[in-house]
Amino acid sequence: MTEIIFLGTSGYVPTPERDNAAFLLKTGETSILVDCPGSPLRKLAAAGIKPLDVGSVFVTHVHADHVYGLPSLVHGLMLRDHVFRLFGSAESVDFCRRLLDLFGLREPKYKTRVEFVALAPGEKTAVAGGVDVTAWSVPHQTSSLAFEFRVGPGAKKVVFSGDTPIHPALFEWARGADALVHDCGAPARFFEKFPVLKSVHTSALDLGEWSERAGVRLLAPVHFLTELDFEVGEMEKEIRTRFTGRLFMPSDGERVAVE
Ligand SMILES: [Zn+2]
Ligand SMILES: [Zn+2]
Repeated sequence: MTEIIFLGTSGYVPTPERDNAAFLLKTGETSILVDCPGSPLRKLAAAGIKPLDVGSVFVTHVHADHVYGLPSLVHGLMLRDHVFRLFGSAESVDFCRRLLDLFGLREPKYKTRVEFVALAPGEKTAVAGGVDVTAWSVPHQTSSLAFEFRVGPGAKKVVFSGDTPIHPALFEWARGADALVHDCGAPARFFEKFPVLKSVHTSALDLGEWSERAGVRLLAPVHFLTELDFEVGEMEKEIRTRFTGRLFMPSDGERVAVE
């Protein structure tokens, strides 16, 4: 069984209900962490996941709300003999190495070690447990990648957009995806009020429209800009005016099966 566990669903402002966006892709014995904000060990524990069962950490980009938990993850496992493989763009990987070095977390006394894997856009790379990934550049920030995972015997396609405005090429990569976890900042009315959002995030209306055209089977919108003050139900209604597939509006700690 393959499932996505939503460790956090908010944008750059965490709230009492929603922490910064982060996910676990779990298939069989393989657990892959996508982005690492907040307190990752606490959230893994709350989800019933043993941290040593997580062998791979993917970083979509190096904005603070996606990487600031990484030092905490490694520091918290200092006594455990473990290796994380950290995947991201060359820029993200270099940034994360320097971030860990700021805290001296790659010194030999720390038993948990991190191996860095820089992904070239468009190249398929084996991750673990029969999971492959192809990374794709998206136009949110210079380090930004989306990830297309191929999972399990049926090679199910699970795509994580990271933060991004609508990027038509992404919906080609995500065509017919078994699951798409995509940036969904706010209802469309906020993108009219704050046009700057259009260059960095995606509105619920646009996400519904593009996901419908791409034939996405399961859509999970995330990275809600909660400080703008709206109800998630408003985004759900907007998406539903365009999208007819399976829609999962996640709360923190929820999980959904990829079928
Ligand atoms: Zn973000
Ligand atoms: Zn960002």
